[in-house]
Amino acid sequence: MSFLKGNFFYNGKPLPSAPLWGMSVLSSGNMRFRWNENNSVRDNFFSSICAEKRKVAQPELIHSKTVYEVSSADEIFFKKGDGILTSNKFIVPAVTVADCMPIFVYDKNSNVFGVLHSGWKGTGIAAEAFYMLNKKYDSSPCDLCFVLGPHINSCCYSVDKDRAEYFAENFGSDCVSFIDGNKYSLSLAKANLFLLKKIGIPDGNVFINKECTCCFKENGTFKYGSFRRQTALLPQNLPLEEKQKHFTVQAAFVFYSF
Ligand SMILES: [Zn+2]
Repeated sequence: MSFLKGNFFYNGKPLPSAPLWGMSVLSSGNMRFRWNENNSVRDNFFSSICAEKRKVAQPELIHSKTVYEVSSADEIFFKKGDGILTSNKFIVPAVTVADCMPIFVYDKNSNVFGVLHSGWKGTGIAAEAFYMLNKKYDSSPCDLCFVLGPHINSCCYSVDKDRAEYFAENFGSDCVSFIDGNKYSLSLAKANLFLLKKIGIPDGNVFINKECTCCFKENGTFKYGSFRRQTALLPQNLPLEEKQKHFTVQAAFVFYSF
């Protein structure tokens, strides 16, 4: 099963003692997750990459800044939120993304690891994860490692003036640039880098994957599912539930490979 994986970085160097981050791709299939649905594509994907002893744990996403820390996979049952952390190496914390940014987290102090779902509404969730780890384990900013995974880049992410102003006010003016009329382009990576710098995370502990989920191609074909790209030709007024049948969401997760 092909999927993307990589290391966390500490002081600019890969951290072999840490877990790995992973993400499915378009050809892996749709990883849609709802508590009241079954998804055999997702089940098969995870059983092919995780040893059977391990349990995938994911909240149902709601575009919030709510992060859970769990010690067993059962604790997340029927929970809704956008981030999940654990120190249990037998748990595979996961979220789903299609243009939103997956943010992978590893805390070298407590060995807590996990993943956050950060779209425009959820931008700021990385700071929430840090505050949790700081409060519970006294972790300092230099203990934390973040990987900003594949997401819609500024090349394809146009937003209106209101959203651009919201981002410039809260995450620095660098993350937005004017296109024309009421159109601005937004960089979720720059917004999150601003946030991570503000809370004191060293640059060497942050790694960014710059592949754009909307336009990046590998061997001539789109590598990722993308909400923007795959719903671009649908009628604007189609309900979101209907639109969701037309795009492919990726699973983003953190795992120990033993
Ligand atoms: Zn793009």
